[in-house]
Amino acid sequence: MPSMLDVVVVGAGPNGLTAAVELARRGLSVALFEAKDTVGGGARTQELTLPGFRHDPCSAAHPLGINSPAFRAMPLQRYGLEWVQPELPMAHPFPDGTAAVLSRSVAETAASFGPRDAGAYRRMVEPLLHRWDTLVQDFMSLPLSALPRDPVTLARFGLLGLPPATWLMRRFRDERAPALFSGMVAHTIAPLGGFATSAIGLVFALAGHARGWPLARGGSQSVSDALAAYLEDLGGAIHTDYEVKRLDDLPPARAYVFDTSPRALARIAGLGRYYDRFRYGPSVFKIDYALDGPMPWTAKEARSAGTVQVGPYKSDIGTALRAASVEGRAPEAPFLITVQPSVADPTRAPAGKHTFWAYGHVPNGWDGDLTDAIERQLERFAPGFRDLVLARATAGPAELAVHNANYVGGDIASGSVAGLQLMLRPKLSLSPYTTPHPAVFLCSSSTPPGPGVHGMSGHNAAKAVWKRLRAS
Ligand SMILES: Cc1cc2nc3c(=O)[nH]c(=O)nc-3n(C[C@H](O)[C@H](O)[C@H](O)COP(=O)(O)OP(=O)(O)OC[C@H]3O[C@@H](n4cnc5c(N)ncnc54)[C@H](O)[C@@H]3O)c2cc1C
Repeated sequence: MPSMLDVVVVGAGPNGLTAAVELARRGLSVALFEAKDTVGGGARTQELTLPGFRHDPCSAAHPLGINSPAFRAMPLQRYGLEWVQPELPMAHPFPDGTAAVLSRSVAETAASFGPRDAGAYRRMVEPLLHRWDTLVQDFMSLPLSALPRDPVTLARFGLLGLPPATWLMRRFRDERAPALFSGMVAHTIAPLGGFATSAIGLVFALAGHARGWPLARGGSQSVSDALAAYLEDLGGAIHTDYEVKRLDDLPPARAYVFDTSPRALARIAGLGRYYDRFRYGPSVFKIDYALDGPMPWTAKEARSAGTVQVGPYKSDIGTALRAASVEGRAPEAPFLITVQPSVADPTRAPAGKHTFWAYGHVPNGWDGDLTDAIERQLERFAPGFRDLVLARATAGPAELAVHNANYVGGDIASGSVAGLQLMLRPKLSLSPYTTPHPAVFLCSSSTPPGPGVHGMSGHNAAKAVWKRLRAS
């Protein structure tokens, strides 16, 4: 290692790895320090239950990853990343045995909402979908450091996306489209009536139509391993099993980039109360299952979807989200996000067997057990599911926080997305990646564009670092 590095990155989640790669690609010397014994943060894969069952303890479905401008500009396929597409990106079953679907095809998706809402859906998404590649670049780079590539489409997206999801859903007359749309908003644990929550649902829908909601062959670890291998090829050094507690723990460098939570960064870098007003959000209770066969969903569409949302209706989803995020209690009938990687990727389980995960929302720091409530919900839509369970691994807020220091109180979004903090994270600033310390930067999902495996917070932070280093 040179006596003075250009950049040290702390934390090897998708954002830390992306920042490290992008700075190494510009010819800078980079070293990365990760607390755990493997890289990946929220994109890892482990045999959590039985031998041969490869589970993703955190992220599994990658609509944001496959659409990420940062990932798309890297040769990750050369380093082993392969996206696999389930037949349907997502299904949202109803008690009558039918399902609304998010398909690659806008027409198929619209048709699943019924004749009264099909036209409204097409009119909403088609104009944005035609300009998706520039739109995704523009809004994932917010706050803008340069002029938007397509200001008209960004403005149109803003008009639709900035109001609460409850407003946007008023354009639908039946229950099916709002049910599926509410479920997508809930992926970031946002309350349905919150500022800019329409944008969340739109992004997931558009991402699905544009490039699907794929899984990574072999598990989400392969996203992280590809980024890490690329970084090493560019000359970057990776040190695992190295928890950083103070800046003095790190070698001398011109810049330090933190893929950590803001308050942890303040402690480590001596920034005092700078992030004291940053709020953490609700948590989830997650179960990873090893199954003896495929999920016996009643709705046939759900059997071939990578992701299945178990609501069923907008009001049920709203009630469950409110319980966890506002009322401070676990929902009696949780809204579930579930992923079944082995329907598309046979490497995840022994022949004929399956991996499957489900989580429901619970308050931050909640210490109960949601297993029974989750399994009752699953049985409603997949009767007989319990008989297929070979093994389960559960993780509530405390276990999630141990898995990753960024999940404070089990908050998997690394910061509440309620109110203005959805977009203005970690605080109101034109440069959310810089800090009062001129050599210290933040790049985690506590900065825009927020949670998800897309590396764009790392990409935006790398630009801020590059600008500072060039000027010095
Ligand atoms: C249960 C669950 C399901 C999810 N599902 C999806 C999904 O399907 N699709 C999707 O796109 N996203 C999903 N996410 C969200 C996604 O995983 C995160 O938003 C994403 O990983 C954030 O990336 P990051 O780089 O900001 O931070 P992280 O991935 O959290 O990585 C931070 C890294 O920093 C390390 N670190 C922290 N503090 C220190 C320190 N002091 N010293 C050294 N290292 C440190 C941590 O160990 C960790 O490796 C899910 C998350 C969870 C928990």
